Amino acid sequence: MSQETRTARTLRLRLPGLTGHRAGQHVDVRLSAPDGYTAVRSYSVASALPGDELELTVEELDDGEVSPYLVHGVSVGDQLEVRGPVGGWFVWDPADPSPVQLIAGGSGVVPLMAMIRAHAADPASPGGTAEFRLLYSVRSPEAAYYGAELDELAKSALLSVTYVYTREAPAGSPVPPRRLDARALSIAVLPVSANPAFYICGATAFVETVADWLVQAGYPADRIKTERYGGMGSTP
Ligand SMILES: Cc1cc2nc3c(=O)[nH]c(=O)nc-3n(C[C@H](O)[C@H](O)[C@H](O)COP(=O)(O)OP(=O)(O)OC[C@H]3O[C@@H](n4cnc5c(N)ncnc54)[C@H](O)[C@@H]3O)c2cc1C
Repeated sequence: MSQETRTARTLRLRLPGLTGHRAGQHVDVRLSAPDGYTAVRSYSVASALPGDELELTVEELDDGEVSPYLVHGVSVGDQLEVRGPVGGWFVWDPADPSPVQLIAGGSGVVPLMAMIRAHAADPASPGGTAEFRLLYSVRSPEAAYYGAELDELAKSALLSVTYVYTREAPAGSPVPPRRLDARALSIAVLPVSANPAFYICGATAFVETVADWLVQAGYPADRIKTERYGGMGSTP
C-alpha cells in the first residue's frame, strides 16, 4: 500500500487464481457491513503485473461511502471481496500497432496508467513500438498520480505527457491554471492524419465533453473509447 497523493492511495491486491489481466480492465469491490448492508464500487486496475497481483488507486471522496474506507480503513493483510478483472471494451491490445492518445481527468488516469505500463513492458509486441501520448487534466501538480514514473517513462521517445492544471499550476509556470478547452485539446493530441486510438477516462461530464470535441474536430467516433467514472463531476 502506498499514499499516491494527499487524497489517494494505491492498494496492491493478491487474487488467488488470477493469471494476469488486460490493461484497462477494472474490478468490482464489495464491502459488507455486519447488518448485511453491502456496497459495490468499480476500480480500474493501475498495474500491468503478470500473475495474481494487481494494483488499484483510489481517490477519497469526502462524502463517499466506499472510497474513504479503501483510502483510510484497509490495512495490510485485510481481505476484500473482489470480482474481476472485468471489461473487454476499454482495453489496450498489445497486438494493435496504432498510435494511442490517452486523455485523463483526475483519477481517470488509473486505467490509462495500466496501458502505459503494459506498453512499456512489452516493446517487442506490435503495439510496443506505437507512439503513446497522455493528456492529463488534474487539479494541481500535487494531485497528479504516478508523477515520478510518468516523468521517467516520458524520457523515452514512445511516451509524451501533457498536463493541464485546472486549479494550481506548478511554481513559475508561464501557463496559468485553466480548464481544458477544445483548442488546447486539438494542440495536445495526435493529429487526425495519425488515426490514433483514443482512450478517455474520468468523471462523466469530462469524458463526454472531450469525446464530443474530438468528433467535432474530425476524429472518427469509432476510434474513441471512453470509461465514465460517474459523479456529476465538472467539465474539463
Ligand atoms: C469502471 C469504473 C472504474 C473506476 N475506477 C476508479 C479508480 O480507479 N479510482 C477511483 O478513485 N474511482 C474509480 N471509479 C469510481 C468509483 O467506482 C466510485 O464511484 C468512487 O470511488 C466513489 O465511490 P464512493 O462510494 O466513495 O462515493 P459515493 O457514496 O458513491 O458517492 C459520493 C458522492 O460523490 C459523487 N461521485 C461518485 N462517484 C464520483 C466520481 N467518480 N467523481 C466525482 N464524484 C463522484 C456521487 O454523486 C455522490 O455525490 C471507477 C468507476 C467506474 C464505473
